[in-house]
Amino acid sequence: MQRSVVETAELTETLPGHVMHVLAELNIKAESGLFEAENDDYELIETALLDYSGSKTVPMPPGRTPRDVAQAFGLKDAEVQKTMITKLRVMATQTTVLQDEQAEKLAEILGFGIEWAEPVVKPKAAKPADAGAPLRPPVVTILGHVDHGKTSLLDYIRKANVVDKEAGGITQHIGAYQVELPEGTITFLDTPGHAAFTAMRSRGAHVTDIAVLVVAADDGIMPQTIEAISHVKSAGVPIIVAVNKIDKPAANPDRVLQQLTEHELVPESYGGDVITSNVSALTGEGVPELLELILLQAEVMELRADPKAEFRGVVIEAKMERGRGPVATVLVQEGTLKIGEILVVGQTWGKIKAMTDYRGERMKDAPPSTPVEILGLNDVPMAGDKVLRADGEREGRGLADERAVKNRDAALAAPRRKVTLRDLRRQQQAEDVHTLNLIVKGDVQGSVEAVRGLLEKLDIEGVVPKILHQGVGAVTESDILLASASDAIVVGFNVKPEGKAQKEADRTRVEIRTYNIIYELIDDISKAVRGLLEPKYEEVYKATVEVRAVFKLTRAGLVAGCHVTDGKITRNDKVRVKRGAEIVFEGDLLSLRNVKQDVREMAAGQDCGLKFQGWESFAEGDLIEAYEMVQVND
Ligand code: GDP
Repeated sequence: MQRSVVETAELTETLPGHVMHVLAELNIKAESGLFEAENDDYELIETALLDYSGSKTVPMPPGRTPRDVAQAFGLKDAEVQKTMITKLRVMATQTTVLQDEQAEKLAEILGFGIEWAEPVVKPKAAKPADAGAPLRPPVVTILGHVDHGKTSLLDYIRKANVVDKEAGGITQHIGAYQVELPEGTITFLDTPGHAAFTAMRSRGAHVTDIAVLVVAADDGIMPQTIEAISHVKSAGVPIIVAVNKIDKPAANPDRVLQQLTEHELVPESYGGDVITSNVSALTGEGVPELLELILLQAEVMELRADPKAEFRGVVIEAKMERGRGPVATVLVQEGTLKIGEILVVGQTWGKIKAMTDYRGERMKDAPPSTPVEILGLNDVPMAGDKVLRADGEREGRGLADERAVKNRDAALAAPRRKVTLRDLRRQQQAEDVHTLNLIVKGDVQGSVEAVRGLLEKLDIEGVVPKILHQGVGAVTESDILLASASDAIVVGFNVKPEGKAQKEADRTRVEIRTYNIIYELIDDISKAVRGLLEPKYEEVYKATVEVRAVFKLTRAGLVAGCHVTDGKITRNDKVRVKRGAEIVFEGDLLSLRNVKQDVREMAAGQDCGLKFQGWESFAEGDLIEAYEMVQVND
């Protein structure tokens, strides 16, 4: 009989590690958390466990991901991941590389000792593959609630730090700029706000390294601040909080810090790890310190890119300008961009005729993290488009055409939803999905909290619902953007989507589910996770057809010669064949013909030849009822 390691541990009030140890002693093999044991053996295991007091030492695998740990300890991948999330509060995937301390804690919780298999090596994450490449400037995006000072802060930093070489000192707005400080360079993206941030991300462009969240000290955390936090968190980008407007008499920076803790951003002064900085975009107070903090954070992240590598970039902004043609701002991500090169940009291409930096100065080559404006493309690309170098014009045109065709095909094909509640189970099996990303909106704070509380308790078969964002009010366009970028489902309780949000959801095929009863919401989600959320179908009557003769044709075999007496029968209909009161066949049609032609449908009064899928014992006088199964729930 098959038994589970985890259940056995629960039953005997021991830990999975203890079970594994006893199993090893008894020479019973466990794989993926399961083992074979008949009743006698099982009793033996239980007895051995009841007076178990030791702990087994297992060499830690060098890989150090929840998956490696699971393999070493004979547990299920999902079990280890779940423990990471619920007990260690680390949002781990099955391939997250664990820190030494995390691995040790994990082993302790599971009931194993750890003996490092090798001298403690640094986890992979801290040693990126391109460790030899030089450091590059961080790319920073500024987010926050409207009127909290995002634009003012960007303007202040630009004015105070960018030295205009040209007379007149008017800098170009190209969508990004750089500041050069003695300690290092920072690249700022000029379009503040989470809509731009997430729109880029949903196009697969991971541009931002560090997010600066601006919160006005006189206003505190507002709805868009919370949205921004969710967007940034779900992108996995570190946040630095700039508490702005501290020059105002009504400023209360401490209140902002307090409020941050309520959104799982614990400032360093509260014992957490979120860096905050008090600033005034008006007077400039605190801004140098903020820039220093950004550079410090970048240093910790060890952002590297090789200027000699193959060029890779992304479009930040693009437009058509009279007299100049298509103009695009490209951020160099890897390699060096050189004037005169042929580029493939999204579905267009072109030779770089001119390249300028944010000061409007001509450039010949641009290293990583540099934003440059380029001229020479044949068409206007889209923000978020990937940029690559092509070898010659032919390749450039060819690659661009290929992308255009791919894109058109993708647009023509029925758009596929990324994640739907109904298909969750199938997707889990196919794609190893173990978290269900959700965005929860509700009519009042109380209901949102209630939904959250219940959802967080749901943990079915290792699938953990993860709430990326929650909020009060209708489902907004920003919710849909976030859902689309992070493969999430939006659930609404007593709220509906705004018109724009619905349109965006239709376009990006994001699933929105709305409920008025909490129980139904929770029930649907738990059913979806278990794969039980089946579509409901109802039978809809289509036609009655009478068998008037049975023919034997040389090629086609037996055919029922029929007459449609009522309604309209279609090739795809399901059929039920009755002989008197008895149903002699129920199933699908194989063919529907009129004389020798295959036809799609036949209406009352017409004659037709029918064949059935896997059934030929029809007889004259049989009555055929055609029907269709129509899905009634969505
Ligand atoms: P955004 O919507 O976040 O980009 O906000 P803005 O930068 O447009 O700023 C909104 C308003 O707040 C403007 O009137 C600014 O002048 C003002 N403001 C921005 N930062 C500060 C600041 O540090 N102190 C004061 N007193 N006003 C500020």
